Amino acid sequence: MQERNWYGIETTDLLKLLSADADSGLSEEEAAERQEEFGPNELPDPKKDPALVKFFKHFNDVLIYVLLAAAVITLFLGHYIDTAVILMVVVINAIIGYIQQAKAEKALESIRKMLSLKATTLRSSVRKRVLSAELVPGDIVVLTAGDKIPADIRILEAVNLNVEESSLTGESTAVEKNSAVLPDDTGLGDRLNMLFAGTTIASGSGVGIVVAIGEDTELGKISSSMEEVEGLQTPLLKQTAAFGKVISLIIVISATAMFGIGYLFHDYETADLLLAIIGLTVAAIPEGLPAVLSIILALGVQRMAGQNAIVRNLPSVETLGAVTVICSDKTGTLTKNEMTVTSVMLKDNEMTVTGAGYSPKGAILHDKKPAKLSDHSNLQEFLTVVKTVNEAYLRCDEHGHWVISGDATEGCLVTLAEKAADAVERLPILSKIPFDSSYKYMAALVEMDGSKWIYVKGAPERLLKMADLEASSGEGVRWDEKMSQHANKGERLIGAAVKKVDSSILSIDQEDMKTGFSLIGLAGIIDPPREEVIEAIQQCKKAGIIVKMITGDHKDTAVAIGAQMGIGDGERVLEGKDLDRMNNQQLTQAALEYDVFARTSPNNKLQLVKALQAEKHICAMTGDGVNDAPALKRADIGVAMGIKGTEVSKEAAEMVLVDDNFSTIVNAVKEGRRVYDNLKKTILFILPTNVSEGALIFVSILFGTALPLTAVQILWVNMIAAVTISLAIAFEKLEPGAMERPPRKSDAKLLSPYYIFRVAFVSFVICGGILLMNALLANQQIDPAIVNTMTLQALVISQLMYLFNCRSETEFALNRNFFSNKIAFLVSGILIAVQLAVTYVPFMNLLLGTVPLEAQFWLWPIVIGIFVFTIVELEKWIVRLVRKSRESVKEGL
Ligand code: ADP
Ligand code: MG
Repeated sequence: MQERNWYGIETTDLLKLLSADADSGLSEEEAAERQEEFGPNELPDPKKDPALVKFFKHFNDVLIYVLLAAAVITLFLGHYIDTAVILMVVVINAIIGYIQQAKAEKALESIRKMLSLKATTLRSSVRKRVLSAELVPGDIVVLTAGDKIPADIRILEAVNLNVEESSLTGESTAVEKNSAVLPDDTGLGDRLNMLFAGTTIASGSGVGIVVAIGEDTELGKISSSMEEVEGLQTPLLKQTAAFGKVISLIIVISATAMFGIGYLFHDYETADLLLAIIGLTVAAIPEGLPAVLSIILALGVQRMAGQNAIVRNLPSVETLGAVTVICSDKTGTLTKNEMTVTSVMLKDNEMTVTGAGYSPKGAILHDKKPAKLSDHSNLQEFLTVVKTVNEAYLRCDEHGHWVISGDATEGCLVTLAEKAADAVERLPILSKIPFDSSYKYMAALVEMDGSKWIYVKGAPERLLKMADLEASSGEGVRWDEKMSQHANKGERLIGAAVKKVDSSILSIDQEDMKTGFSLIGLAGIIDPPREEVIEAIQQCKKAGIIVKMITGDHKDTAVAIGAQMGIGDGERVLEGKDLDRMNNQQLTQAALEYDVFARTSPNNKLQLVKALQAEKHICAMTGDGVNDAPALKRADIGVAMGIKGTEVSKEAAEMVLVDDNFSTIVNAVKEGRRVYDNLKKTILFILPTNVSEGALIFVSILFGTALPLTAVQILWVNMIAAVTISLAIAFEKLEPGAMERPPRKSDAKLLSPYYIFRVAFVSFVICGGILLMNALLANQQIDPAIVNTMTLQALVISQLMYLFNCRSETEFALNRNFFSNKIAFLVSGILIAVQLAVTYVPFMNLLLGTVPLEAQFWLWPIVIGIFVFTIVELEKWIVRLVRKSRESVKEGL
């Protein structure tokens, strides 16, 4: 498309130029043709490191340097096989690292795709949501607060349209836009009739026409993409990386010391001693651990996405497992968002409405007979207001289902109007104030019979104030009674009011909404609770997670729905205006004490998150509007709604719910706990291998005995055996009691005292068993190669047995879930096959310095393995007993 000063052209000329029609939009065929011609509305992907660079980055690691040094030393000593194997390990390590990184990146990439931007456009006269990538020049786009602007757009119509353009101009306050033509030399920041891709609508609404897409947009010109690349580091991974560095340092220092000891006190050949030291260094470093940990996290992200929870980054998976409070919206998250008006309350009478869902089948009944609008002018007026001040449209889709486009609350009001005995008119709107959950109403200026009116629909309390009925006048009290009566049943209430204004008025704003209205009536809407959520809330209670409802709805409605769902005590509720009056201390108190918050504004959400965090809570907070973004950002886990959420809220959130469903949050927390448990188990599993290997070599240098394992054999155990086996833990299911214990402390140390004890204990058992075996074999004058091979087997068999200990941290290993993890058995089978190959295949013998074993030599390794399994189970049993008695002591106090 040719570059033009789009802002300087009259809109009628503009439409001609782009061959577009503002009322019907492009036809589907025309849009498809233009897409073909101009390509997708996308920015090219950010530049990535070429594959080779990425690959070589995996060599940049202290551990690899140590290994490379070892390779050089063995080369000089003439141990070429060792050199080859060590180099092979280095390369394999880089390959594994590369593949796993690519996998994790791909997982996140596909998740980003799931979150791609959408826009509302007019095609063949039908409003529809399309992917932003599918927009073409000439498309008519409808935008409301919270939308991310998908392309460069010239405004055709704007209503209080404020746009946040800081990403483009650096201007931090929102700019008000309009549709007036501008002179040709207007600078970018002053083009008030243009909307630029990548900026967001802060408030108001508008209609515009796409003039530039993809790389031709202003954003496209300055940068290829704004999308930042998410890091793959998590607090836990960082903790282990730091831990690894410390270990490496300690190892290098102690290796040097060992070299001194060996040299001074024993008559080792320098070469042998060097080999031993290399063995020690290699043994003590958990080579495979980082790769395994990030694979577990990436698998977690993928599983969550499969369960409708899209997590943006790996760290959030960990945080999810530590969540202590979930603050949830009501409408659509706890409830189904399938709204039906069931009653209409007018000044002097009340009507009931039949029929369910959006289908216009049903009637508005007065005294059990359909109410004729000619007899009930109030009803007619009420229906005209709610249908006019309304952006939802009702239609019957190709399957014969009645569907709405737009907001559910508004949709059910259109259905209500359709149910009336006579047709209700939708008046043209001259100016409007869009709905916002901070002021909770929507208003429009209309012209009827030659005079002008402001129509408003919104939260009844707001309308009572506008109608000056707040003070305890008789009429105010009567309305109040009606309201609580219906709200107590859990009905959502929406009212309609009107005010006649001077016919010279052309547009309206908040100032016009203060007073002088007359209230016509209210609609009572039911929105049934989601059944599965009730169950999910029960689960949260068991898991020590507090659930709080934060809603914009009426307090009686909130309490009634809360009671149905198990949130709060069915009585206590705090309103947003109460929160606004409180100081920090009172806020904290209130945030802890109350479970239901009604008539809240987005700012109240932020206040509550801060108050809860001050009390060390890990807080998940849901939100859908533009103004919810600060609270979502501030929360430990901001949760956005995939269906009804604005683009801005999705960007601010850590997690997006594909189905807007509360139980999805709970499932994600469950998955988070599972992942974290498995990460811990993996560490608990891998470390004893390294410690016992290190100890074996340490002891043999100290006493000047033959080395029990060569460097190559150690690498084999650490890289191949340990990594293969520990992958089984990634597939370990959630432990039975995991959702019955309180959330973990967010500042808990990775290696608790118990963990350190367990690692030391298991290492001691494995190392002791092997030393005993070696001592006895030495007496029998057995060939050292056989002893080495047996030591290798004893280590791997112990690992395998210990895996089954580790599958559950405290419970007895042979429980009813023993067979639940198929992968554990698959891995065991593979490992046994591989170990047989290591022992009996000549090529492997050459590579690893092993020898074929006669049957009787298997006895020792197997006995050691079984011994490890048994004694760890014994230790777990004792720990269980101790914990139980401690708990009962605590309870007794
Ligand atoms: P919730 O927390 O239930 O999502 P909202 O902030 O969406 O609450 O709405 C709060 C109140 O605002 C509702 O109880 C209703 O009275 C009113 N309201 C909701 N949607 C609209 C709308 N589209 N137009 C006018 N009023 C609305
Ligand atoms: Mg809402």
